[in-house]
Amino acid sequence: IDPTQYIRQIIRNVPDWPKPGVTFRDITTVLQDPRSFRVLIDLFVYRYMGQKLDLVAGVDARGFIVGSVLAYELNLGFVPVRKKGKLPFNTVAEEYSLEYGNASVEMHTDSVRPGQRVLLIDDLIATGGTLLAAARLLQRLGANVVEAAAIIDLPELGGSQAVKDSGLSVYTVCS
Ligand code: 5GP
Repeated sequence: IDPTQYIRQIIRNVPDWPKPGVTFRDITTVLQDPRSFRVLIDLFVYRYMGQKLDLVAGVDARGFIVGSVLAYELNLGFVPVRKKGKLPFNTVAEEYSLEYGNASVEMHTDSVRPGQRVLLIDDLIATGGTLLAAARLLQRLGANVVEAAAIIDLPELGGSQAVKDSGLSVYTVCS
């Protein structure tokens, strides 16, 4: 079995969560299994080692888990893209729309310097709204978003295509 298939079979599908009709893709099963956690990180390391990158930006909250380990492995800094109201210093925010209402993501104004080459990472792409907002935020700070990455793509929701249509390169481990 290849590494991607191995990870895919360990991801747990939870029916009717967070609401009836929705199947949640649960990555905690990947994280708790030492072999799949390592294989997952190694797939990202394989893709990005030797690429010219300055930072990994991880999206609150599961993007922190993979993003920080990856940053450490690649000898890069890590910056968090947080949900509203969590960061203590000066922040910039980007709003995005959810099925009902709006949400926003925030970063510290000094977390990225203009021209820095940033890998943006989260656990999953659904509508793409979260990664698009995070990318806009990074770009407003002057970053060069080299790629938007995730473990899982839900291509039927069109999110990865929307992120590509915005001009970003997209990489996902599985769908
Ligand atoms: P999007 O903004 O692309 O519609 O939704 C992606 C965001 O919602 C990500 O931050 C992701 O963590 C979360 N998300 C939505 N659905 C799922 C799911 O089925 N599994 C996981 N692990 N995260 C999800």
